[in-house]
Amino acid sequence: GARPRVLEVAGLTSFYGRIQALHGIDLNVEQGQLVALVGANGAGKTTLLRAISGVQPVGAGEVRFQQRAINKLEPHQRVAAGICQVPEGRHVFGPMSIEDNLRLGAYAQPAAQAAADIEKMYRLFPVLAEKRKLPAGTLSGGQQQMLAMARALMGRPRLLLLDEPSMGLAPLLVREIFRVVQTLKAEGMTTLLVEQNARAALAIADVGYVIETGRITLSGPAAELLENAQVKRAYLGM
Ligand code: ATP
Repeated sequence: GARPRVLEVAGLTSFYGRIQALHGIDLNVEQGQLVALVGANGAGKTTLLRAISGVQPVGAGEVRFQQRAINKLEPHQRVAAGICQVPEGRHVFGPMSIEDNLRLGAYAQPAAQAAADIEKMYRLFPVLAEKRKLPAGTLSGGQQQMLAMARALMGRPRLLLLDEPSMGLAPLLVREIFRVVQTLKAEGMTTLLVEQNARAALAIADVGYVIETGRITLSGPAAELLENAQVKRAYLGM
């Protein structure tokens, strides 16, 4: 592609003790792209995201961010550089209000910018606006997932890593989350989206990768993967 690569993963391996979870992963995300990484349970999706965030040790290979090798950077240094992972599940601060959770996501940003960004998050996720003063713990699972995503966005990431945002959500909320991911893409966000919901992810992505037992087995334009017979059989229930 003509656009610069924001993320380049080359030959990456990772182990849990003696168990090898990643076997030489190659994956690229260009500026402004939405890339979907799909695969079954246990294929290594979360491990790869955690390796990019720096919380999972890697063996061989390299992670480059904005043309710079970052293997040696600590997780917090990667966050400061603009890599932000929204973890799977609900990682919000339950006793704190929704608005304070959002503020926390902008702790490193100027106050005026944070205030403007909070209003932007309320436009993206109207349900959070209605409940802004309530403790985050009172939100439903899907709403907490939205808050976790909104909080991550408050840090103005240059690369957004989304781990199974549709996990365990009712269909209506799944659509809502994917709509937001699409909106962010339209605004220029660069995103790596990890999903078991292959159909929904590939439907909105530019490029897709299929991971099986720690190896990328297929990649290409997302629209082509949606039509691929192997993908249809294995991931789209056709
Ligand atoms: P899921 O959708 O269930 O999160 P995944 O594709 O994200 O699946 P990973 O969680 O990355 O897969 O797991 C990849 C492989 O690593 C699996 O075989 C898993 O059993 C193994 N694994 C993951 N975490 C650990 C751990 N803490 N200790 C040992 N093995 C692990």
